[in-house]
Amino acid sequence: AMTAVAIENCLNHQRVKEIGFLDALTQVYNRRYFGLRFHDEIERSLRRNTDMTCMFLDVDFFKKVNDTYGHHVGDLVLTRMVSLIKEHVRACDIVARYGGEEFVVVLPETGIAVAMEIAERLRQAVCNQAHQIGDHCLNISVSIGVSGVTHITDAEDKKAEEIALLLLDNAGKSLYHAKETGRNQVVLFNSRCA
Ligand code: GH3
Ligand code: MG
Ligand code: MG
Repeated sequence: AMTAVAIENCLNHQRVKEIGFLDALTQVYNRRYFGLRFHDEIERSLRRNTDMTCMFLDVDFFKKVNDTYGHHVGDLVLTRMVSLIKEHVRACDIVARYGGEEFVVVLPETGIAVAMEIAERLRQAVCNQAHQIGDHCLNISVSIGVSGVTHITDAEDKKAEEIALLLLDNAGKSLYHAKETGRNQVVLFNSRCA
């Protein structure tokens, strides 16, 4: 019985921990937990000498969805976006809600070419259909910024923390560039985004 209680406590502890790590609305990881997982993945990537890519995805004109249909519909759009993101990535990829209508995806052991294909497929999946959300039929688009480190040679003297900052910063800049140059597009980090 003592052992059973110990196991139960342990499971509960794990559950509580997980609840604290999930975004209440979308049930993907929250930003706090993302930071921890991201760090671990970078460490693993450094050990294994593998590529890693990162994407920032932001819903276009999301404020207009809220203003036109109300916050509840806006919330449902966010959960729809998460479903679509999950359909396009692997179980080992990290999906997290980074801010309001902004999501981050980390693809371990994935080079830029593959990441760009995934991002482009996802972008098209969002905009090539009308989304039935409650009583409304909505056209939605997303902008995606992509950044990557091409295995350890890029990152040789860098610590995990520096690589994390670099990946996030570059993906954020690419996303900004995608927004500035028309939205509904995928932009890979390059010197024009800097
Ligand atoms: P852009 O194309 O430049 O990204 O424009 P945008 O309207 O999507 O971006 P903006 O930053 O102007 O507005 C984001 C809005 O997202 C504002 C905020 O009220 C809304 N928002 C943030 N979190 C939530 C949420 O959890 N639920 C809902 N319904 N809205 C949210
Ligand atoms: Mg937006
Ligand atoms: Mg935003």
